[in-house]
Amino acid sequence: SLPLSQTITLPSGQSYEQPTGLFINGEFVKSLQHKTFEVINPSTEEEICHVYEARADDVDLAVDAAHKAFHSEWSHCDPGVRGKYLLDLADLMEANKDTLAAIESMDNGKALPMAQGDVGLVINYLRYCAGWSDKLSGKVIDTGSNYFNYIKREPIGVCGQIIPWNFPLLMWSWKIGPALAAGNTVVLKTAESTPLSALYAAKLAQEVGIPKGVINIVSGFGKITGEAISTHPKIKKVAFTGSTATGKHIMKAAADSNLKKVTLELGGKSPNIVFNDADVKKAVQNLIVGIFYNSGEVCCAGSRVFIQEGIYDEVLEQFKAAAEQLKVGNPFEEGVFQGAQTSQQQLTKILGYVDSGKQEGATLITGGERLGTKGYFVKPTIFADVKPEMKIYSEEIFGPFAVVTKFKTADEVIELANDSEYGLAAGIHTTSLDTATYVANKLEAGTVWINTFNDFHPAIPFGGFKQSGIGREMGEQAFENYTQWKAVRIGI
Ligand code: NAD
Repeated sequence: SLPLSQTITLPSGQSYEQPTGLFINGEFVKSLQHKTFEVINPSTEEEICHVYEARADDVDLAVDAAHKAFHSEWSHCDPGVRGKYLLDLADLMEANKDTLAAIESMDNGKALPMAQGDVGLVINYLRYCAGWSDKLSGKVIDTGSNYFNYIKREPIGVCGQIIPWNFPLLMWSWKIGPALAAGNTVVLKTAESTPLSALYAAKLAQEVGIPKGVINIVSGFGKITGEAISTHPKIKKVAFTGSTATGKHIMKAAADSNLKKVTLELGGKSPNIVFNDADVKKAVQNLIVGIFYNSGEVCCAGSRVFIQEGIYDEVLEQFKAAAEQLKVGNPFEEGVFQGAQTSQQQLTKILGYVDSGKQEGATLITGGERLGTKGYFVKPTIFADVKPEMKIYSEEIFGPFAVVTKFKTADEVIELANDSEYGLAAGIHTTSLDTATYVANKLEAGTVWINTFNDFHPAIPFGGFKQSGIGREMGEQAFENYTQWKAVRIGI
């Protein structure tokens, strides 16, 4: 059967040892049924390796290990101890940052500088969570001298975590960081197309001595491994990032099994709005970052672009020119901004929306086709004259695909922007403080970026309004989703 690790040569020429097992109870192990699946490099369409696939019986073992670890020491040790483990992990990740970024680029297809950026965010975020570990305090509540009341935060227990393929390592840290800092233990499932960086990071967690069973990583498919997590009776909470359709399914499964607590970070169709008085150069840069960063595979991508009529032609022309200048191709090649889409399925989906846009009468401004014949590359694509009734206007495409609509007034664009089932993020580009705050206050979005876009910080919470999700990740708010309040009332 498949060995538990394999020497892989990265496109940069460097070799490393890739763990291929499931990470259960502090060890890399074979799955009970010895099933494996293939991992593809989306830039070359070649096989990278196989990894072991977890089934329900493997998830049971992982949950048992996590359950034991939760009740042994992890949940009630001095929280600073947990913080120190996270700091040590962040340090070891920093020492291995080049390998981690290269694995991520190879497995996901994203351009290497994007992957390097992700790894930087991961390290910062783990340090941020470590800082919170011993600061999640409760309080004493005075209700008169006949009582002494205190409330304290306690961890929830074993948390199931299901992550997507667009930011495999970053989502790993957004899930594992706050869960561990608050004293929970985890069983995390990576996306089937991108399991590698999470396994490598698990090896680093093993090296820093994070107690066995605290982190368990189960590679596998949604309908089998994911389902086993969301329905598991001993898992007390499930945190999911991915599509809204799957999020709804997981929420139902969580409710039907044991009413798990649920946090969901789901899809989007975020508006990115340019007003007549915007700094055009900066706005165009933010339109580019908004939709072409990470090959457009971003839940909060600024995929619906609104440009005010007085500046419409100028901005559209510059947006087109800037998109055409982006270097698309081999993620490891110098100067490449946009790598490959992560899977054949995504490539097909994006090209299907190109056909749909043309059929519905939108104007193709640039792109709209595959680049080359090997690797899942798509040219940066912009459609203009896009109307709200078109599919490309309302549906999440998850690729380098912007739709552009002209507007006249602030109130009109607020209505257009809010006319969506989603509410993850929004961008506003203006030099008027009045316009910025007026529009920001009215937008239905969990994050509003003004004169910036896709701009994250560990201290700033992220999450969705409407069907873009439930709960928040990052910031102090992340800990609300990984702790529960206990009230103790003492009669004197
Ligand atoms: P998905 O939501 O189905 O997959 C995300 C994760 O959920 C993966 O780990 C997958 O294995 C798991 N999963 C799938 N079905 C499951 C189930 N029944 N129970 C438990 N877990 C399950 O997304 P996808 O099919 O990979 O991509 C489809 C579309 O979803 C994309 O085109 C994009 O629009 C959207 N998407 C959004 C995000 C985001 O960050 N918001 C991320 C990935 C994909």
